[in-house]
Amino acid sequence: MSPAYQAKFEGMNGTLRVRFAPSPTGLLHIGSARTALFNWLFARAHGGSYILRIEDTDKERSRKDYEQNILESFKWLGLDWDEGPEKQGLYGPYRQSERTALYKKYIEQLLDQDKAYRCFCTKEELEAQSREMESRGEAPRYRGTCSHLPQKQIETNIAGGKPFIIRLRMPNKKLTFEDMIRGKISFDMALTGDIAIAKGEEDPLWIFVVTIDDYEMKISHVIRAEEHLSNTPKQIVLQELLGFPIPFYAHLPMILAPDRAKLSKRHGATSIQEYKDAGYLPEAIINFIALLGWHPSGDKELFTLDELAKEFSIARVQKAGAVFNVKRLDWLNNHYLRKKTPSELAALALPFYEKTETLRRAADETYANSDGSDSFDAAYVEKALALATERAQKLADFPELTGFFFLVPPYEAKLLQWRAMQPEHVREQLSRIMRTLESIDNQSFTQDILAERVSGLYGADRGEILWPLRVALSGKQFSPGPFEIAEILGKDRVLKRIKQAIQKTMQ
Ligand code: GLU
Repeated sequence: MSPAYQAKFEGMNGTLRVRFAPSPTGLLHIGSARTALFNWLFARAHGGSYILRIEDTDKERSRKDYEQNILESFKWLGLDWDEGPEKQGLYGPYRQSERTALYKKYIEQLLDQDKAYRCFCTKEELEAQSREMESRGEAPRYRGTCSHLPQKQIETNIAGGKPFIIRLRMPNKKLTFEDMIRGKISFDMALTGDIAIAKGEEDPLWIFVVTIDDYEMKISHVIRAEEHLSNTPKQIVLQELLGFPIPFYAHLPMILAPDRAKLSKRHGATSIQEYKDAGYLPEAIINFIALLGWHPSGDKELFTLDELAKEFSIARVQKAGAVFNVKRLDWLNNHYLRKKTPSELAALALPFYEKTETLRRAADETYANSDGSDSFDAAYVEKALALATERAQKLADFPELTGFFFLVPPYEAKLLQWRAMQPEHVREQLSRIMRTLESIDNQSFTQDILAERVSGLYGADRGEILWPLRVALSGKQFSPGPFEIAEILGKDRVLKRIKQAIQKTMQ
C-alpha cells in the first residue's frame, strides 16, 4: 500500500468504522471468524468502531439459531462489537430484516431518477437469452430488453400484476478502484449488464442492501472475503448513482486447505462451534486465525488479542491464499492449555468428561476413599489433569489421557506381562511390589520415595517390575510412568489396583 494511500485512513480516529456482516445461514465459519477478527483488529488498531450487522435478507436460508450461534461464538472468542444486535447504536437496527422501509425509499429514488428500471422478462426468456449468448462465446448478461419500455406499457404490466425485478442501469465504462491489499483493480462494467437489485419493490437483493447499509451505517472501510471482489465494482456503481461516498475496500486472501483447494467441509471441521466442541481454546483459535494471511513485523508467533490489536496492520495482509494447517492450531492449543492454572484447566475440561461419562460411571462404580469422602475432589482432578497437559492438544483429549485416574479401563491379564513373563511371575512381582508399597506411609507416598523404594526390587530387567506396576495402575498400554501415577492415585487406590491386577492373573 502506498504511503499516500495509507495516510488516507491514518488519523481517522473516531470516524473509522468497519463492519462484519454475516448471513445467518449456517454456524459461524472459521474463515468468517478470520474476517471478523481482521475487522475488529483494524478498528482497535486505529481507534475506530466495529459494527456487527446481520444480513438476513435471504428469508428461506436465514435462521435465528444461526444468528444466535454467530453472536455466541463471537462472545466466546472475545470479539466484542461496538454496535449491533444486543448493542444498539446510532445507526440501528442492525438486522437487515428490520430495515426494509429504508431500502424501499432508495429503490423508489432510483426508479424516479430513471437510474433503475422494472424488468418484466420471464425466467424462461432470461434463460434463453443466457444460453444464446453462451453459445456465441459471450459471458451471459442482461441484454436490456426492458430498459426503455414505454411508460404506458410499464403501467399496463403493473396494473395486470405482471411480476418484475428492478435493474440498475450499468454505465458503459471501465471502473477502477484501489483495494487496500491488492492495489488497483479494474473492471469493464459493460460486461456486467444491468444487474438486478430487487425482486419487486419490496424485496431488495443483497448487493443493494449491503450498499445502502454501508452508507447508512457510515462504514468507512469494507474488509471482507476475496469472494466478494467481483461485487465491489457493482457496489461502487450504486454508490456513484446514489451520490454516496465510496468506502475503502480490502479483500482478504482465501483460506486454503493443505491440498491448496479452498477450505471446505471435506477437509474437516469448519465452524467455530466444532472447534469449541473439540476442546480448542478461544485464545488458540484467535492466535491461529490471526496468522492466516497476516504476519507480524517480527518473528513472534504467540499473540493475545490485545497484543494483536497493537501489532495489526492491514499493510501486512498478503494477497496470496493462506494455508490452514491444523497441526499449528494443535500446537498453539497445547501452548495455551499449559498456561492454564490447574483449577482453570479442571473447570474447562470437566464438561468433556461429562460427555464421555467417565466421571459419572466412575463415581457410581468403583472408588470411595477409605474415609468415605468423595474420591474426585478438586485437588485430585487437578493433579490428574496436570499430568496430561504436556500431551493433550485439545480439552477433549483429557478424558482419554486421564480417564484411568477415575476408572480403570477393562484390560486383559496378558497386558500385565512384560516380554516373556508368565502369569505366575507377574503375580509374584506384583505381590512383592505390594508388600513394599504397603510399608510406605501416606505422607511418603511421593514419586521420588516410591521410585527409590521400588528400585530395591529390580532384577536384571527392571521392566519386569515397572511394566506390570504401570499396567496395574493405568490399565493401559501407554501412559505416564508408574510413580507419577501412583503419587496422584494415593496409597489406597494404588493398593486396590494392584490387588485387582493380582486377581486378574489368577483367572
Ligand atoms: N453477508 C455477506 C457474507 O456473509 C458479507 C457481505 C460483505 O462483507 O460485504 O458473505
